[in-house]
Amino acid sequence: MDFCEAKHSANKVLAENVCKALEARGFHASFAKDAAAAREAALALIPDGSTVGIPGSVTVREIGLPEALKKKGCVTAEHWAPDMTKDERKKALLAELTSDWFVTSANALSMDGVIVNIDGTGNRTAAMSWGPGSIIYIIGVNKIAPDVHSALKRARNQATPPNAMRLSRRTPCAVTGRCSDCSSDDRLCRVVMLLERAPIGRECHVIIVGEELGY
Ligand code: SF4
Repeated sequence: MDFCEAKHSANKVLAENVCKALEARGFHASFAKDAAAAREAALALIPDGSTVGIPGSVTVREIGLPEALKKKGCVTAEHWAPDMTKDERKKALLAELTSDWFVTSANALSMDGVIVNIDGTGNRTAAMSWGPGSIIYIIGVNKIAPDVHSALKRARNQATPPNAMRLSRRTPCAVTGRCSDCSSDDRLCRVVMLLERAPIGRECHVIIVGEELGY
């Protein structure tokens, strides 16, 4: 087995073990070997013509899912366009929440199957904890952490600094690349959510991707 094959095999074994932990917590979990396979797996779940809410997620856009959904007649709701008015953004946020499907990633995932997220506005975490539709998480293997404590540290130290930079936030992590549990007015870390089980009555899918995706 060469270097690349060994890396792919290790990622697959890790992801499959986390899938078992997620299944035990009420999620439908599967492994996709790369971005293209993850996109196809999500497309297979979402019926043609569905409405699909896509919040601020680098991963979902990295795998090219919004364009692929539009090609099969789905209507996406996305509040991320930079030129939206305040009113347009508010309508898009509400449409994301109430769509047939909500497709997102996560900031981190513990090996025993807890999904960890930290939000600034809380729109993502709100839609993760409740929504009338089904939900799909697409999570790169790079986001798996040994336990919940490490997953929270990952969310603060790996996921948030690039987001602070992307959004031009004046936070310490945008300068140092590390979290200092700041008191900045621009602080992004305001809502912390641990999904310990799939919420009652909701179809929840997790696709773990065997390559690095998102922050
Ligand atoms: S608490 Fe502040 S410094 Fe830490 S990750 Fe969040 S925004 Fe950055």
